[in-house]
Amino acid sequence: MTGRKRILLFATKLGYQTRSFQTAADKLGVEIAYVTDRCQRLDDPWNDGALAVHFEIPESAAGAVLETQRGLPVDAVLAVGDRPTVAAAYVARGLGLVHNHPASVEACRNKLRAREVLRDAGLPVPWFRNVKLEPLPEPSLLGVRYPCVLKPLSLSASQGVVRADHREQFLAGAARLKRLLNSPEIRATHEPNLDQMLLEGYLEGREVAVEAMLTEGVPRVLAIFDKPDPLEGPYFEETIYITPSVLSNTEQHAIEQSLYCAVRALGLSHGPVHAEFRLNAQGVWPIEIAPRPIGGLCAGTLRFAVPGGTESVGLEELLLRHALELPGSDALREAHASGVMMIPVPHSGILEKVEGEEAARATPGVSSLEITARLHDFIAAWPEGSSYLGFLFARGAEPAEVEFALREAHQKLRFTLAARLPVEHPVTHTIPPADRP
Ligand code: ADP
Repeated sequence: MTGRKRILLFATKLGYQTRSFQTAADKLGVEIAYVTDRCQRLDDPWNDGALAVHFEIPESAAGAVLETQRGLPVDAVLAVGDRPTVAAAYVARGLGLVHNHPASVEACRNKLRAREVLRDAGLPVPWFRNVKLEPLPEPSLLGVRYPCVLKPLSLSASQGVVRADHREQFLAGAARLKRLLNSPEIRATHEPNLDQMLLEGYLEGREVAVEAMLTEGVPRVLAIFDKPDPLEGPYFEETIYITPSVLSNTEQHAIEQSLYCAVRALGLSHGPVHAEFRLNAQGVWPIEIAPRPIGGLCAGTLRFAVPGGTESVGLEELLLRHALELPGSDALREAHASGVMMIPVPHSGILEKVEGEEAARATPGVSSLEITARLHDFIAAWPEGSSYLGFLFARGAEPAEVEFALREAHQKLRFTLAARLPVEHPVTHTIPPADRP
């Protein structure tokens, strides 16, 4: 047996996020074993030895993982993305590792359950109720107050989240959400509760995201991100995240307090947390608390200065150090301002052309641009969509500089999205609605 630490990393996709973990692991001399739910019928086509399981049945996924890990050393378990978090928690429990309790993680995975837990703990939550989508609900029979928000119980990235200001918008939104939840792509995830939605009061106010790390139930805030674009709906795709926040110390303290109360209520105890809050005259309202790190490439905005180290380290390395109890997980974020724009999808279509990349990259303050959407692939706009055209990163002395750089660079980009011809699905025989040109 060598002294090399070994970690199980649960991820839906093996892509840019897991590559960043691999780079960090190589640097730390740590071994990563991957667990994913990609196609099980192909025998390791990516040649990375990843173990394939079904995340939607967490206990049996955990059983399968535990079976393969018999006799192998496992020092920690980490999950990226929402879907694998519950299976990861069961595995950690089975191995006796310090981790969140599966029941806590399950509560975070179900938006209805999360609202109930937060309400019962006395945290501010909007009015809410779950509603079956079949038959389509009649809002006047539900005591709905407007504006309200309709959302799936367990999807992520604001997919399917819709605001309604009156009855017609409610009916259109519910029909659209039902169509999305019945689509073959979403059905294939086998997520539970695809036959219902969560209905809740719309919360006015500005929104922030918080990245934090929990140790023995106590969160250490790594960054508070402002979201300078108004997220007022009717759909809620993210755009710009910038840290440090320009909110007052009092407001930032109130956010940290709310995070502390929310993780306590949910019983989360260990590892990364990504949370969203709305702030208004009534206080700080938790929108979502997720026991996983920030998604996609956005972690690239965060660099940490390890005490005694000469270079800064990324979030993935910080998380590995924390999970494996290696020194340096107490590193603080670097002092400069940093931000990302998740490049919005103006309308659904096939991505035919991207122009202006060079000019966008050359914009002062811009540190990188990654176009992640693939040419000639279909990409859906929100609310049906859940992935961005790409990610723009900027750095600067002040948050305002970063925001300016991101907006300038974005203006230089041109995306040509062509309408897709409606084709009948071979299994369901349904024809998707035509894309808006
Ligand atoms: P997901 O997990 O898919 O991201 P969320 O419940 O976090 O779904 O909602 C996504 C976004 O929709 C939030 O970040 C917020 O901008 C908006 N949103 C969700 N619920 C509300 C609400 N009750 N009031 C106002 N905005 C909301």
